[in-house]
Amino acid sequence: MIIVLLGPPGAGKGTQGELLAARLGIPKIATGDLFRAAVRDGTPLGIEAKKYMDSGDLVPDSVILGVLRDAMASTETARGAILDGAVRTVPQAESLAAVLKSIDRKVDAVLLFDANHAELIRRLSSRTTCDICQTPFKGLEPGTACPRNDGGRLIRRKDDEPEAIQNRLNVYEELTAPVVAWYQTHGVPVESIDAIGDVTDVTMRAAEALRHVPRAD
Ligand code: AMP
Repeated sequence: MIIVLLGPPGAGKGTQGELLAARLGIPKIATGDLFRAAVRDGTPLGIEAKKYMDSGDLVPDSVILGVLRDAMASTETARGAILDGAVRTVPQAESLAAVLKSIDRKVDAVLLFDANHAELIRRLSSRTTCDICQTPFKGLEPGTACPRNDGGRLIRRKDDEPEAIQNRLNVYEELTAPVVAWYQTHGVPVESIDAIGDVTDVTMRAAEALRHVPRAD
């Protein structure tokens, strides 16, 4: 089953994607996590991505296409994948559809996580993130040892600074929100999930929504 997670920054796609991936027994592919790891390792991909990420701009579609192609060709995704933040523009949705078509697969469903702006800003500006496992935490100061990953330190992501947050929300409205309509007009079920509330409740809503989706595999 291939599931695309959509929703503005701070809606909880990363957290929910991980929980859903564990429930469904398929991997989560988070392009943001891949890019941050590449930046940390100083690879050519990371050097390119960093030019855009710190200010909250999108990495060019041409770069994403290569990442999506590699991810979908990997044996790891043979049984499916949860794509977290991996489709952020209409051209990316088109490219992913073409990549999947060439291997006789398709996106089975889109989960659209929905939260109001005030809540998104509150979440993004108050979180810290592990510099290694990338798990976000609330209420823990930068510099704290990661409670989850030995050796990890919590940092404030550069794109969680106020100016970058506003830019990311604008970019979402302008470039990513139209992806929802693209999927709807291409016959892919789009399930809206209320992303406000307890993490477990949100996961239950998402899992319930997926029960109605016909599975291709
Ligand atoms: P995220 O961790 O999902 O918030 O992603 C962090 C940043 O990585 C984004 O603000 C973009 O700069 C970049 N990024 C991640 N995924 C994509 C994508 N599919 N298209 C363009 N840029 C992306």
